[in-house]
Amino acid sequence: MEKRELEREFHMTGYARNSSVQKKSSDNAKHITLETVQQLYKETRPKSLGIADLGCSSGPNTLSTIRDIIKTVEIAHHRELPNQPLPEFSIFLNDLPQNDFNSIFKTLPDFHMELKRGTKNGVCPAIFIAACPGSFYGRLFPEKTIHFIYSSFSLHWLSKVNRVIYKNGKSINKGCINICSSSPEAVSKAYYSQFKEDFSMFLRSRSKEVVVAGRMGETEEEKLDSYETHFYAASAAQIEGEVNNEGSFELEKLEIMEVEKKDNEDGMSSGELAAKTIRAVQESMLAPHFGEEILDKLFDTYGRMFDEELAKEDIRPEADLLYEMMDLQREFHMTGGVGKTSYARNSSFQKKAYDQAKHIILKTLQQLYKETRPKSLGIADLGCSSGPNTLSTIRDIIKAVIVAHHRETPNEPLPEFSVSLNDLPRNDFNSIFKSLPDFHIELKRDTKNDDSPSVFIAAFPGSFYGRLFPENTIHFIYASFSLHWLSKIPPGLYDDQGKSINKGCVNICSSSPEAVSKAYYSQFKEDFSMFLRSRSKEVVAAGRMVLIILGREGPEHVGRGNSFLWELLAEAIADLVSQREIEEEKLDSYELHFYAPSAAEIEGEVNKEGSFELEKLDMLEVDMEWGNEDGISYGKAVAKTIRAVQESMLASHFGEEILDKLFDTYGRIIDEEVAKEDIKHITFFVVLRRKL
Ligand code: SAH
Repeated sequence: MEKRELEREFHMTGYARNSSVQKKSSDNAKHITLETVQQLYKETRPKSLGIADLGCSSGPNTLSTIRDIIKTVEIAHHRELPNQPLPEFSIFLNDLPQNDFNSIFKTLPDFHMELKRGTKNGVCPAIFIAACPGSFYGRLFPEKTIHFIYSSFSLHWLSKVNRVIYKNGKSINKGCINICSSSPEAVSKAYYSQFKEDFSMFLRSRSKEVVVAGRMGETEEEKLDSYETHFYAASAAQIEGEVNNEGSFELEKLEIMEVEKKDNEDGMSSGELAAKTIRAVQESMLAPHFGEEILDKLFDTYGRMFDEELAKEDIRPEADLLYEMMDLQREFHMTGGVGKTSYARNSSFQKKAYDQAKHIILKTLQQLYKETRPKSLGIADLGCSSGPNTLSTIRDIIKAVIVAHHRETPNEPLPEFSVSLNDLPRNDFNSIFKSLPDFHIELKRDTKNDDSPSVFIAAFPGSFYGRLFPENTIHFIYASFSLHWLSKIPPGLYDDQGKSINKGCVNICSSSPEAVSKAYYSQFKEDFSMFLRSRSKEVVAAGRMVLIILGREGPEHVGRGNSFLWELLAEAIADLVSQREIEEEKLDSYELHFYAPSAAEIEGEVNKEGSFELEKLDMLEVDMEWGNEDGISYGKAVAKTIRAVQESMLASHFGEEILDKLFDTYGRIIDEEVAKEDIKHITFFVVLRRKL
């Protein structure tokens, strides 16, 4: 199987619940890992420490190792440099693009909370966690950004099955799926040479990324015959040989660990445990090859045979023998990724706004490049969501910079691109990652006259109303249709008895008392200034931010602008109340964390915060034809767009069953209203420049 295909299919299934073997083994290695980290910290004492976990999979092991490493550095820091501030931590989690990163991200809020609880005097270090999907048999990170690399149970997975194993399309390894006792010598030779190629590629890639003194811790017969796992268990001498051959790293430690294989705590036999572990690792590859229906039986049999073998002799796995399966995990299923009501299929309005602003966005970027000419360019998309808009914007940005590069410094090498995608931890990052292999292929095609640019894509889940990235690492920030979402429902919308003061409305509307618009406005001020303050640390001097944000024309809060859309949504909900499908109290207690600022309010906050200069603030009018091109009415098009954005919130408050009816009504009401007079979707296009 070719490398690309392998990258698309191989992933761990339910690894989170079936990786105790791997956990045991890394517990054995834990003290060595932690000692190495402390030694490294003593030698390099960086202000910002880059740590990468290669083949992180997704399960409890992923973040618990990271937690241990951070705690250990903290201890070393308090011993070595007690009076200085703690270093910043940049954590990079790597696995193949189809790994289930979403599950890891969901646990991040708890992870941060636990770390905070465990720190000395409540002083928590700044920790930036990013996912960098891709194969570790190639470059993953910008140059010299990593101090410590950790890779547990991943490197025995080869990049592909060696072609030598097939002669005239037939396997020469009949009856086996990896090296086994009946394999001809050519088979073990082929696997070994693939291991050499892969491992040296691994070392070469890492040698660019790791700073000096950084460390690396480390059924039917036909069908059966054509199935080979891309697994290789290297001997100590082979590993040492490759490290020396490549030459950038020194081997500090290489020990053999024996993982105990007693019957485990859940009362399972060793065979059952091994079967579960291997199933989590190999299911995604076995199922498409042999068919899903054989899996239960296959792994029952596997477990039984394993136990029988154990009873005969004590098989002592040298750490990796059977546990092959644990490294790349995934559990990923499309969850609303591209369904009928998904954002991916209902974001043409946002796309239109981008298309209108595109030439200014790209010009801004080229101006920025001219002024800063960085060797490595940091680009961040805040509130990236998941859908076709996400990566197509990034592609435009990279291409525009390449054009500027050829104009400005045609004889120098292209800059590296560090792309950071941000959204809240529940965003469907998995869907974005799945399309990364195609993204890279297309980019290569589009830039075929160039040496392919190095593009490193990472996801930083978290709220942009707080720090997201290490200091001075970002040149260009793009935030489109995300900043009108507040960090929370503002306080002050409920009276002492907990009753809403905004009855019958879901946001500021014409019947709202003044206290309501005041509460929303003050939440916007707090959030937007926090946003600017956080970005001021992260954006380099002369760096730019492009913000596309829904707004309103003047000081009035209500009118036929964006607020009108929420007024009509409240009306549609009220319609269901009148039909007794929703209780009135439910409508009263529902609020939307949305605020459409005026131009003056945006400018006011920018000036007050003081780190950015307002280069541009234009109003875009996204045209009213929207909807017609799909053959549906304008009202229906708006209803679909709003549904993709609000569905999750509405469903949890009112129940999923009302959604279809609600949005039918909503679409109809909108059409009735626009027949009377247009609704204006005021959209601001803002360019901010980081002051020098
Ligand atoms: N930029 C995309 C998506 C806009 S949808 C486009 O233009 O098409 C708005 C996105 O902002 C959502 O995915 C939402 O999850 C995200 N978002 C809202 N508040 C956020 C916050 N505080 N931090 C990070 N992302 C946020």
